[in-house]
Amino acid sequence: MKKVLILGCTGSIGKSTLAVLHSHPEKFTLCGLQAHKNEEALLKAGNSFPDASLCLSGARAESGRIHYHGEDGILRLIEESDADIVVNGIVGAAGLPPSVKVLEKGMDLALANKESMVLGGALLKGLAHKSKSRLLPVDSEHSAVFQLLEHRPPSHVREIILTASGGPFRERPLSDFSRIRPKDALKHPTWNMGAKITIDSATMANKGLEVIEALQLFDFPIEKIKVLIHPQSCVHSLIRTTDGALYAQISAPDMRLPIQDALFYPEVTSPVPSAFLNLEGKSLDFYKADFEKFPMLALAFDCARSKGGAPIIYNGVNEVAVETFLAGNLSFPGIAALCRQVLEEERALKSAPQPDLTDLDAILNLDRRARLRAREIIQEGRL
Ligand code: MG
Repeated sequence: MKKVLILGCTGSIGKSTLAVLHSHPEKFTLCGLQAHKNEEALLKAGNSFPDASLCLSGARAESGRIHYHGEDGILRLIEESDADIVVNGIVGAAGLPPSVKVLEKGMDLALANKESMVLGGALLKGLAHKSKSRLLPVDSEHSAVFQLLEHRPPSHVREIILTASGGPFRERPLSDFSRIRPKDALKHPTWNMGAKITIDSATMANKGLEVIEALQLFDFPIEKIKVLIHPQSCVHSLIRTTDGALYAQISAPDMRLPIQDALFYPEVTSPVPSAFLNLEGKSLDFYKADFEKFPMLALAFDCARSKGGAPIIYNGVNEVAVETFLAGNLSFPGIAALCRQVLEEERALKSAPQPDLTDLDAILNLDRRARLRAREIIQEGRL
């Protein structure tokens, strides 16, 4: 039996992970659950697992069943748990300190929190190496690439191609983008996810973060990482080998598959019904990514090329920008404009002194500074 701990259990990753555990009671037990604010959903999820420890990190808990509280509570939950593997489905940079703790403890990390790798890739890889724990990607694209790269030496791989649905505005003219409202951006064509990642899909910042995540996870140079638009979200990513051939991982868009692959690893996984995608009569389309329409994607490549702290600034400012956009206080094109402005002010893409990217405090300090600057610019109304 593998003991599993789930961080972010009330979000879409958490719910899909619980569904996987419920389908394999002979394989997995649940030893802990964390939620941010939704106490009712946390208790409901914990009902089927009476031995699991519960943590509510972002609100005061009413129930005596919950023993861990606050942001520190997440770290104590991990510290005091005997989990074999932790699924990190927390949203945003807040997921990094728990990821660090998991690897310090020598547990395997099933990573759905892409920000952990974007902010702390070097730090996490160092920790995983030291504690011999595994870093297993759960993001569907990275899970696909991870499977495709297995048993294949990196020297045989010419490029990694991350697919992207293109979001709800793929066909909308750029001249119309300033009229986009939060409710338009919250409608994702293929995936059903939380608000933050849905907006990130609409701006393609999600793919931008995934490019940086791939760079960190697979240690390929940025020149070898490409993005391809594929609206049906069935081809989850591809690799091209040195002979020119393409290999793809294809299944229905259902997060239970990558989650299950990570939980079972290195064992071969058992069937996920949705993975039996019937391709008869189906068309799969592919298009070039439009960097002009989606400057968040272009900026992510710039950040990835800069090799310093730029990805931390990109992510921190984007989190503030999305929050402000959702509150109706920033335009849709304003999200990228804000990111570009802070990156330029910090000279992050050029010659700015670089923080120590293996030091958690240095990373979190830069993250805080970027958010602070973003909020100042919004308050000054300079966009
Ligand atoms: Mg993804």
